Amino acid sequence: MMGENGVLLQLKRVSQQYGSGERRFTAVEDVNLTLGEGEFVALLGPSGCGKSTLLRIITGLQAATSGEILYRQRPLRGVNPYATIVFQTFALFPWLTVLENVAIALKVKGVPADLRATRAIDALDRVGLDGFENAYPRELSGGMRQKVGFARAIVTEPELLCLDEPFSALDVLSAETLRGELLELWTGGQIPTKAILMVSHNIEEAVFMADRIVVMDKNPGRIIANLPVNLPHPRQRKAVEFQNVVDQVYATLAGQTQPEYLELGTAPGEPGRTRRLPQVAIPDLAALLEYLSDLPGNRTDIYRLADELNLNSDTLLSLVETAELLGFATIARGDITLTSLGETFAEASILARKEIFATCIRRLPIFKWLLAMLRAAERRQLDWNVVQTALELEFPPQEAEAQMDTMVNWGRYAEILAYNDDNTMLYLESGATSSN
Ligand code: ADP
Ligand code: MG
Repeated sequence: MMGENGVLLQLKRVSQQYGSGERRFTAVEDVNLTLGEGEFVALLGPSGCGKSTLLRIITGLQAATSGEILYRQRPLRGVNPYATIVFQTFALFPWLTVLENVAIALKVKGVPADLRATRAIDALDRVGLDGFENAYPRELSGGMRQKVGFARAIVTEPELLCLDEPFSALDVLSAETLRGELLELWTGGQIPTKAILMVSHNIEEAVFMADRIVVMDKNPGRIIANLPVNLPHPRQRKAVEFQNVVDQVYATLAGQTQPEYLELGTAPGEPGRTRRLPQVAIPDLAALLEYLSDLPGNRTDIYRLADELNLNSDTLLSLVETAELLGFATIARGDITLTSLGETFAEASILARKEIFATCIRRLPIFKWLLAMLRAAERRQLDWNVVQTALELEFPPQEAEAQMDTMVNWGRYAEILAYNDDNTMLYLESGATSSN
């Protein structure tokens, strides 16, 4: 793939401890990572697994407790002059104009004053902000402010661009637009950047953008998998190959520890038994996952949960079953333990949760079946009754209706299905995140 000269960055057995005395703990343990020229790598993992810590170490904003950090084969000392970082919410100076906010990065680097404005204007052009040079941050939308952040990062022409969840504070549409624009800059060679390292907690975002996905787990923070994404750009989110990679990343995050008895079942109409979906409300599921994510080791005895969450035992068992079915938790010897995926969900923003949830339910055979039927249907819509009749070949009528209810509730939450009460039609959501 890449020659020895093509290696930009190497982390060798990097560990980071925080705190002192009894509170000392290992946040990142024994991380080995190589980044080559031309690579776009995504770092994926639950909150607290040390993703931001690694970026700070790589950019030289903090020194690791142990291990080696080599940049172009040379040990890194102090701030890395070849790297810049873009944060989730970019701290712009409110009293400076857009142009000044970008130019200041050049001032810090010692670029002479007469060159700064020209280069800042050029960087703003490249992110599509020409005409906004004299605006103030408060006059811009969230997406535009983040673009100023990108402009400030690329104006110094860093070899290595580090992005820490750069889209997660934006609304769905702005995030998707900005993702596309960044990819265009990158794949079109319009920025001199040699490599990108992006932290994400969004599986589809990582598969959409990166050439390789590095999956981390926590306690202690470490790398558990390195998954290549061999798909040409522009990538089609709905393509089978795309979904296969998503499934693979998903399985890694869900721990691949789903027990063998956990049968996903077959699709309706196929040989074998269709697994019925437990009937749960998403807020209850979210509450369970949040509760578990606050416990030491992210686990507890199942019997304790009913009391602690104030639920009756039927509801609780349905919730536990759902958490396991979707890969959010594992069950063993009466204990429930959150997986990395469950942890990621519990800590994610509302929008990221929807995206994670969509990924989870798309793998269920009964959902695949419904989505395939809708895709094949005229105008991608079907009458509720048609679907229910089909389901009645598998389930008693009442159960078929309950299954429909669950699928519609879950599908609506994930923004992959929509239902119109007036004409009882079910249709595929053509939302921003699933439009390509
Ligand atoms: P991530 O970005 O994956 O959410 P972080 O790198 O922010 O993870 O944090 C990893 C762990 O280290 C967390 O438990 C966090 O609370 C802890 N941590 C991060 N920064 C510090 C710090 N400066 N001092 C003490 N603990 C920290
Ligand atoms: Mg972080």
